[in-house]
Amino acid sequence: MLTRSELPENPVVLTVQDLDGGRHTVTTERLRGGRLRMGCSCAAHAGQGWCRHQIELLCLRYGAIVDPTDEAEFHFEHLVMGTPLADLADDLDLALEDYAKAVQALDARRPAGLGGDALRRFADLASDVAEAATQLDQAVARFRKKLAVG
Ligand SMILES: [Zn+2]
Repeated sequence: MLTRSELPENPVVLTVQDLDGGRHTVTTERLRGGRLRMGCSCAAHAGQGWCRHQIELLCLRYGAIVDPTDEAEFHFEHLVMGTPLADLADDLDLALEDYAKAVQALDARRPAGLGGDALRRFADLASDVAEAATQLDQAVARFRKKLAVG
């Protein structure tokens, strides 16, 4: 991890675009001690204190950046790589994926009737969703806590 004084650009401001065309500004700043201050102008961030734009960028997925340049990605990577917030974003990203898979499995394989082992299979699927939701809830809490302290 580069120190703050070694960073070529700090903060880094990136514009991202959603599939519906909505654009948002993500501002990321390295503070002392490898801490990051990161904000996004989207409604999700305002409402829940974090957003998927942050997770995508911290996981080094740049598909939503408007007018991406190698230089901006380079500056951003130097800012975030090796920071605790980037590690927590990876954990949150995996938890989001596990939760989506569990919900999808429940939707796709929900038993139709009550006969045979249908209720047990439904309970197993619901248990998987509950476990994934709990893990996701905890991952979100850790990420938000780290965001709050910078
Ligand atoms: Zn956002």
